[in-house]
Amino acid sequence: MKRCFWVNLNNKLYVDYHDLEWGVPKYDDHELYELLILEMFQAGLSWETILKKRENFRLAMDNFDYERIVNYDEEKINELMNNKGIIRNRRKIEATINNTKVFLSIQKEYGSFANFIWSFTNNDVLYIDSKITHNELSDKISNILKKKGMKFVGTTIIYSYLQAIGVINSHECDCFKFKGLT
Ligand SMILES: [Zn+2]
Repeated sequence: MKRCFWVNLNNKLYVDYHDLEWGVPKYDDHELYELLILEMFQAGLSWETILKKRENFRLAMDNFDYERIVNYDEEKINELMNNKGIIRNRRKIEATINNTKVFLSIQKEYGSFANFIWSFTNNDVLYIDSKITHNELSDKISNILKKKGMKFVGTTIIYSYLQAIGVINSHECDCFKFKGLT
């Protein structure tokens, strides 16, 4: 069975992520939120590092409950900064709280974050089998999110995010997940 070239077959977490999660269209705001925050934490690091720490993040951050995270205070930030299981980067942790505020305001404005993020393609999945790291769509969404006040949402991060949540499907043509056919 062929998989996309980037999958580390020695890492079951990574194989499962590729096979079961990456590129599958997601419409649940909690899933959309978790991946947005994880992509943000990934900036400058490998996705494998993030996957290894994902369970620690869930434990440390109330299972990505955005209603709780939006209220994190200085004491909680310090607690997270002392947690060796996650990415201890104060700017990213502070950005998480900030971005959660923006996430909630988008939910309020559009009814759900899913409505917002899928509106850019009229609910269509875009099939882009290439090695590009951003496109016009990710440029556009990145700019809008930045204007709304989010941090760590550059176009490369957003492109990666769109692939993760299935707005863009980038499985390679010889991958068994190509075009979602399994
Ligand atoms: Zn694939």
